[in-house]
Amino acid sequence: KVRVRFAPSPTGPLHIGGVRTALYNYLYTKQKGGDFILRIEDTDSARFVPGAEEYIQETFDWLGLTFDESPSKGGEYGPYRQSERKEIYKKYVNQLLDKGAAYIAFDTPEELDSKRSEISNFQYDASTRNLMRNSLTLSEEETDALISAGTQYVVRIKIEPGIDITVNDMIRGKVVINSSVLDDKVIYKSADELPTYHLANVVDDHLMKITHVIRGEEWLPSAPLHVWLYQSLEWEDTMPSFAHLPLLLKPDGKGKLSKRDGDRLGFPVFPLEWKDPQTSEISSGYREKGYLHEAIINFLAFLGWNPGTEQEIFSLEELVEAFSFERCSKSGAKFDIEKAKWYNHQYIARMPDEELAKLFVPLLTEKGISSTTEKISKVVSLVKDRATFVSDLWEQSSFFFLAPETYDEKTVRKRWKKETPEHMQQLIDLNMQMVDFSAHNQEKVVMEWIKTNELHTGNIMNAYRLAIVGEGKGPHMFDITELIGKEETNKRLLTAIK
Ligand code: GLU
Repeated sequence: KVRVRFAPSPTGPLHIGGVRTALYNYLYTKQKGGDFILRIEDTDSARFVPGAEEYIQETFDWLGLTFDESPSKGGEYGPYRQSERKEIYKKYVNQLLDKGAAYIAFDTPEELDSKRSEISNFQYDASTRNLMRNSLTLSEEETDALISAGTQYVVRIKIEPGIDITVNDMIRGKVVINSSVLDDKVIYKSADELPTYHLANVVDDHLMKITHVIRGEEWLPSAPLHVWLYQSLEWEDTMPSFAHLPLLLKPDGKGKLSKRDGDRLGFPVFPLEWKDPQTSEISSGYREKGYLHEAIINFLAFLGWNPGTEQEIFSLEELVEAFSFERCSKSGAKFDIEKAKWYNHQYIARMPDEELAKLFVPLLTEKGISSTTEKISKVVSLVKDRATFVSDLWEQSSFFFLAPETYDEKTVRKRWKKETPEHMQQLIDLNMQMVDFSAHNQEKVVMEWIKTNELHTGNIMNAYRLAIVGEGKGPHMFDITELIGKEETNKRLLTAIK
C-alpha cells in the first residue's frame, strides 16, 4: 500500500510551497488508494515556534486535504510528533554505534571553529576526522571517561569515501553522488538526547512504512545521506522512492520564493494569516485575502505540474486522477499571483449562486443589509462574472440594496439633458401601468415607447441607469429594475428628477 507523509518542522507558519508539497503527496497517494500522513518534525527545539503545529492543522482543515494519520487523529504508527519518539531513536543510534557505522565526537563549537579557520573549506569527514576529538582517535577508556564525566557529545555517521551513492528520483531519474563529497553529519546530540533531522526522518519513514518520499528540491542534497543511512541500518529493501519537487521561484524567476518574502512582493506567501508570537507582526494569508480553497489547490497543482492538455480548471478529484510525476517539471516554477487571481475568479464565476450568496451574506450584514437568500442569489448570479473575490461582489452590486446617494458627475454632464426629467417622468408612468415587471416585458414596453416617440435609446437608457445605479456600470438595466422592483425603481427615478 502506498503511504506518504508530509513532514513539516513547526518553526513558523507553513510556507505556500510547503502546501504545494503536501498537495502533491495527497494527489499521488489518493490516486493509488494510499495513506496521507502528517508527521511533525520537532527535534530542533531551538527553532520550535508555539502555534505552528496548530497553524499547519488549520491550513489543511481549510483546504479540505484530510490526513489519514496525524498527531491529532492518531494512527497505528504513532506517535506522530518526533519529540515524543525520543526512546525509539536511541535504539538505532546505538545500533549504528555498535556496528561501527557511526561514532561519538566531543569537539566543542570552539574547536570546530578553530579547525574551520585553519583549514579552508573544512569538512568533518574521512579526511579530517582523524584530526578531531572523537571515539575514532581516542581510546575506549578515554571515550568512556569523558562520557562518565558528563561531557556533551554528538554522534556522527561515518561516511566511507569513494563510493557511488544512487538516488532514484521519480522526477529527475537516477542521481549519482560520490560519498567523498559528503561529510560525517551529526545524527544525534547528547545535550537534548534527540536525533537530528536526518536520522529521525529516515527512522520514522522506515517505521511508518513510508513508500514514497515526496518533498521540496532543497532536500535533494540530503538524499544521498539518507540513502547511506538506509544502507547502514540495513533497510535498503524497503527504502522509499524519492520525488524532489521543483522550487517555487519569485515572480521574476530570480531565486526561490522564501518565507522572508512575506508581503514584500505584494502577495501572501502563507496559506493563512499569521501573527508572529514574538513580534506580533502580522503576515497576510490567502484565506483572509478572500481566496477560495478550491482555487488555491488548483493554482498550486499547476506550479510544477501540467496535465498536457488545455484544461486548466480541475476539481480535487480530477487532479487526483490526472496527476503524475512524469508530467512534473524539473525546473523551478515561477510564482504568478495574477494566475492565482484568475483561478479565484473562475471559481467564483462557476460557483452555484446559493453557495456564493452564503459567502456574501456576512459582508452584507457588515454593511447593515439584510435581504432574502433568493434576492442575494439572484444578485450574485448577475454580477459574479465581474468578481475576483467575494468582497468584490459588494462593489459590483451595492446598488441592488441601496439607492444611489450621489450621481457620477461625468455621466450627468454627458447624459442628463434638459428634456431628461420629463422623459424619466414618462418612464415612471409607463412603469406604473406595467402589470408584468419582468425584465423581458419591461424591455419590450420601454423599447416600444422609445420607438413610438422617436427618442434616442442611448440617452434614455444611460439616464435611466444613472438614476438607478448612480453611475454608468452594472449588469443589464432591466435585470436590475426587475430585481429591485417597480416601487423602488420609480422611487429612484423620482429622486433623480427632483
Ligand atoms: N522536516 C523537513 C521539512 O521541514 C522534512 C523534509 C522531508 O520531507 O524529508 O521540510
